[in-house]
Amino acid sequence: MTDVDGLLFNPRTYDPQYFDEPTRRLLRATIDFFEGQGKHKLVTEEMGAGWPTEFVDFVKREKLFATFLTPAAYGGDDPAKRWDGARNHALSEILGFYGMAYWYTEQVTILGLGPIWQSANEKAKLRAAADLDDGQVMAFGLSERAHGADVYQTDMILTPADEADQARGIRYRANGTKYYIGNGNVASMVSVFGKFGEGAELGEEAGANYAFFVADSRRPEYELIDNVVHMQLYVSTFALHNYPVRDEDILHTGVEAFAAALNTVNVGKFNLCSGAIGMSEHSFYEAITHADNRILYGNRVTDFSHVRANFVEAYARILAMKLFSQRSVDYFRSASLEDRRYLLFNPLTKSKVTMEGERVINLLHDVIAAKGYEKYTMFRHFANIIGAYPRLEGTVHVNVGLVLKFMPNYMLNPAEYPEIGT
Ligand SMILES: Cc1cc2nc3c(=O)[nH]c(=O)nc-3n(C[C@H](O)[C@H](O)[C@H](O)COP(=O)(O)OP(=O)(O)OC[C@H]3O[C@@H](n4cnc5c(N)ncnc54)[C@H](O)[C@@H]3O)c2cc1C
Repeated sequence: MTDVDGLLFNPRTYDPQYFDEPTRRLLRATIDFFEGQGKHKLVTEEMGAGWPTEFVDFVKREKLFATFLTPAAYGGDDPAKRWDGARNHALSEILGFYGMAYWYTEQVTILGLGPIWQSANEKAKLRAAADLDDGQVMAFGLSERAHGADVYQTDMILTPADEADQARGIRYRANGTKYYIGNGNVASMVSVFGKFGEGAELGEEAGANYAFFVADSRRPEYELIDNVVHMQLYVSTFALHNYPVRDEDILHTGVEAFAAALNTVNVGKFNLCSGAIGMSEHSFYEAITHADNRILYGNRVTDFSHVRANFVEAYARILAMKLFSQRSVDYFRSASLEDRRYLLFNPLTKSKVTMEGERVINLLHDVIAAKGYEKYTMFRHFANIIGAYPRLEGTVHVNVGLVLKFMPNYMLNPAEYPEIGT
């Protein structure tokens, strides 16, 4: 579990001994940053729907994303830098505990980095490592307004550049619009999914025309159109107008580009469960504090038998969410071409653990009742947004569809694997 003195995350005592010192220090610094802000400020800023500038400054100052999201091979002389599913899971729980926007800023940075770290493009990887070190955040430009989950369709087109461009090292010009792209307002590297248009030299195989490339949101050919939601998270729509794409910007081509899109979502969607866990824990604290202080007919609300039942059930569900996702972390960390159990556990974690988060908040809402609508509560924010976790990065149907693909092999074709430690 993620804490030491109890089974729920407790910001006052949190100090996971099983992590190394730099990890513990950074997780503690993150908690202290939010506790230093205080609940009133956090909820006020959430309602104001402005970009979380102070948090992004904190990330830069503490090199938080640089430390947690740079693979060791690109970590330079800093041994604390590594990509580690277990501590990413812990950080994501903490960020979820304090608000969706903080969690999401990291989440879409993870997604943006997916196609980069999975590529063979050394220049792009070195650039990502340097940008993270500099405190930049990333974005993942897959979705388009017209196509939803049907990522086979894309209207982001790369056209071969003319001779004058070629002489300047520009290979393609990209044109098209993306929609629902987190951090698209500021990201230094936006991993964009598209396809080659007419005139590009391609192989014969199906999917040969797909491409993943990097765009910089600060360039003039990148038009930030809007935030499509009214929230603190910046879920952008942006357009590329004759955006210059050089060799060092191209991450993947052909079917590899499509695989990188799917794999990135596989890696990233896992954190939706820890985000939901953090929100559920904070909601639990608010609900029980309110209920225990509230006297009705001369008794504490926590004396009502149905209220007790709701708390017991919510608590048990949160613990089950945490236990299941811990197991999933293990399978994720030990994944290999031979041991692909994570492909079963990961979509289950994504779909079912996040759904449990929704159930927990519902149970607690029946207890906290009217107070759960008050503006200066975390509960209001979480009750509004918890439903996003089961629905984004693949709905429950899409993820259960993935589970069903692997279920026959898992149940009916048993294999032996080495023991997996924590
Ligand atoms: C707050 C927010 C942040 C987001 N951030 C990003 C981001 O940073 N980057 C990014 O690229 N995208 C992002 N998205 C887009 C998100 O991942 C979309 O949900 C995704 O593109 C799917 O589109 P859709 O939700 O419109 O659903 P649709 O694709 O329109 O799906 C509609 C229905 O069809 C069903 N369905 C679809 N495919 C299947 C299938 N294969 N099998 C069975 N049923 C199916 C679904 O279950 C659903 O019920 C974000 C969205 C939101 C709201």
